Amino acid sequence: MDENLGEMISDLKTYLEYLKGMGISSLASSESKSGNTVRSGVLTLAEVREEIGDCKRCKLHRARKTIVFGEGNEKARLMFIGEGPGYDEDVQGRPFVGRAGQLLTKIIQSINLPREEVYITNIVKCRPPQNRNPEPDEIQSCHPFLMMQIRVIQPDIICALGTFSAQTLLKTDTKITALRGRLYDLEGIKVIPTYHPAFLLRNPERKREVWEDMKKIAEWLNNHERIKKFDSI
Ligand code: URA
Repeated sequence: MDENLGEMISDLKTYLEYLKGMGISSLASSESKSGNTVRSGVLTLAEVREEIGDCKRCKLHRARKTIVFGEGNEKARLMFIGEGPGYDEDVQGRPFVGRAGQLLTKIIQSINLPREEVYITNIVKCRPPQNRNPEPDEIQSCHPFLMMQIRVIQPDIICALGTFSAQTLLKTDTKITALRGRLYDLEGIKVIPTYHPAFLLRNPERKREVWEDMKKIAEWLNNHERIKKFDSI
C-alpha cells in the first residue's frame, strides 16, 4: 500500500475511534460558498486534550515532565506549528516560552497580531531528551492528535516552523531552504514553511527571510476573508 495512504488511514481510524468513544456515530458536512466541503466541527480542543490523556503511546513519555499540548485561540486564523517542546516548555507545560519562544512572540507581533490571537503547538507534544530531533515513530504517534487540533481550529494559514514541521505537514523530505516562503495546501488550509526561531537565534542573518514570509502571511490574511468553517459549532 502507498505509504501516505496507509498513514492517512491510520490517522482516520484513530479519529473515528475517538468520535465513537464520544458517542458520535455520524458526521455532518455541508458545502461552503466556494464549493469546498466544510467539515463538521464536532470536537473541541479540550476534548482532543482529554483524548491524549496521560499519553504513553511513544517513548518520549519516559523523560517528559509535561505534555505540551498547545495554546492560543481555538478559532485562530493563523496557527504556528513547531518541532517539539524544549526544557522551558517541558517545565511550564506551554509551547514556545524559552528563548526561541520569545523570538516567536516578536515574530508574531511583527505583523501586528498579539500572541493570544494565534494558536501555537508542536509536531510532538513531549520533549525529546536533550532536545534531540523527534524520531519518525514519535512523530507518527503524535500525528493524529496534531491533525485533530488542525481540524478543530481550521485555521486559514499554518506557519510551519522549521524542517520537521514543514516536512511532516507536507509529507516531503525537501529541505526547508527550498520549502520556505511558498504557500502549500493541507486539506484546504494554506501552509507556509519558514525557518525555526531557534535556527534564527543561531543564524540571525536569516531573519530577513522570515520577515519576508511573515509579510506574505499578513498579506494573504488581509486579502482573504475568514474562511467560515464553524457552521456546526
Ligand atoms: N522549539 C519548538 O519547536 N517548540 C517549542 O515549543 C519550543 C522550542
